[in-house]
Amino acid sequence: MSEENIKKNGIEDKLTTIKYNCDSKTHLVPDENICSRCEIRCCTYICPAKVYSYDENSGMLNVEYENCLECGACKIACPYDAIGWNYPKAGCGVIYKQS
Ligand code: SF4
Ligand code: SF4
Repeated sequence: MSEENIKKNGIEDKLTTIKYNCDSKTHLVPDENICSRCEIRCCTYICPAKVYSYDENSGMLNVEYENCLECGACKIACPYDAIGWNYPKAGCGVIYKQS
């Protein structure tokens, strides 16, 4: 595969091919007590959609659930099993289309 094709098929390009029908309520619920004491915070770098970010000032984990791709990587990666993870309600969430 050429370098041009690799760039063309990178994650940033793939993310532009999907749509979302956002739920009004989050389907990702990290345990605040566990997350506030977590030092590894692997959720903030493993998520391909950058859903999680850590606010150093408040000590809170921010969750932009609207961008979730429903891949499940964060649930698997969290060493403390701290993420309450459900699919969004029927009809909501990410919409993949063939391209
Ligand atoms: S979700 Fe898991 S990895 Fe992320 S901050 Fe919370 S405990 Fe740490
Ligand atoms: S399920 Fe995937 S896309 Fe959604 S928050 Fe977890 S790692 Fe990110």
